[in-house]
Amino acid sequence: MTNDYRFEFRLYQRRFLRSLTTNHGKWDIREGIILRLTDESGRVGWGEIAPISWFGSETLEQALDFCRQLPGEITDETIFSIPDELPACQFGFESACGSEFFSMPNAPCPMPHAQSFSGLLPSGEAALNQWETLWQQGYRTFKWKIGVYAIADELEIFESLIHTLPASTKLRLDANGGLSYEEANLWLWTCDNLKANPELPLEIEFIEQPLPVEQFQQMLELSMSYETAIALDESVATLGQLAACYQQGWRGIFVIKPGIVGSPSRLRKFCHQHQIDTVFSSVFETAIARLAALQLVTELSQNNRAVGFGIDHFFEQEETWLQSLWNDL
Ligand code: MG
Repeated sequence: MTNDYRFEFRLYQRRFLRSLTTNHGKWDIREGIILRLTDESGRVGWGEIAPISWFGSETLEQALDFCRQLPGEITDETIFSIPDELPACQFGFESACGSEFFSMPNAPCPMPHAQSFSGLLPSGEAALNQWETLWQQGYRTFKWKIGVYAIADELEIFESLIHTLPASTKLRLDANGGLSYEEANLWLWTCDNLKANPELPLEIEFIEQPLPVEQFQQMLELSMSYETAIALDESVATLGQLAACYQQGWRGIFVIKPGIVGSPSRLRKFCHQHQIDTVFSSVFETAIARLAALQLVTELSQNNRAVGFGIDHFFEQEETWLQSLWNDL
C-alpha cells in the first residue's frame, strides 16, 4: 500500500551558545531543514534534515535543492528512492513518514537518564572547568576533543583532567582525524600506560578517529597494536562507508550518527546482520531528529555504551523555536 503525503519544509538556524571547536574548525550556527508530512487522514509526521557536509553528508544547499524540486504531494516511493548522495535527506524523510507520527513537536522527548549520555566537554583547558557542571547534571561519560591544540599542551591538560575527574568516570578522546601517525601512537601509548595503572580510578573508553579517513589501513593496524580501543567516526559517516570498513576488516567500534548515516531502515538491517560494536552520536540536531535517532538507539544499541547526545548545553532552550518556523502550530 502506498501513502500520499502533503509535503512542507522550513529552513532553521540555531546559534551555538559557545562556538564548537574541533579539528575541522569553528562552528557557530547550526542550519537545517524541518519537514512536515501530512497524510490523507490528516496525521502529521515531522522530520529533520541536519547535514554536516564537512563530515561527509550532503551540503545544506543540496538538501534544500532536493526539497525545492519536490512537488507538494509526495509518496512513500519518493521517500524510499532518495539517492545515497543525500543521506541526511534519507534520514529526515524516512523518519517523518515512520510509524512515530506525533502531532506536537515540542512534546517532551522521552530521554534516557543523563547517565546513559556522553557529555561533550569543550576542547583545551576549558574542559577542566566544565566537567563539573555536567557531572552535577548526571553525566558519567565525557568526550574531550583532541588534535585541536599542540599535542604537548593537550597531553598536559589530559594529565590534569584524568586526575581531576571523579572515579568511575569514562572518558572518550575524539581527534576528528587530526593526529599524525606519530601523534596517534603517542596518545594510544599514553592511554595504554594509564590503563596499566591499577590506581587510575577512571576508564579511558576509546580514542575516536585518530587519523584522517584516507588512512584506514594505519588505523586498522593501530587497533591491533594497542589495548586502548579505537572508534571510527568520520570514516563511517554514511552507510556505504560503514559497510566498506566492515568488509575491510574493522571490528573495533563504529560511531553512528543517525542524522547523516542514511536510510534508517537500511541501517537497522545492517546492524542486525553484523552485530557491530556501536556508539550512537548526535549531529547537533533539534528534538525532532533526536527523537527519531534515539528510537533507533533503543533498538540497535548492543553494549550499553553511553550515547553521544549530551549536547543540550550547547544551545538555548528549544521551547518556542519551532512555533516561530510554522505560524499555524
Ligand atoms: Mg567524533
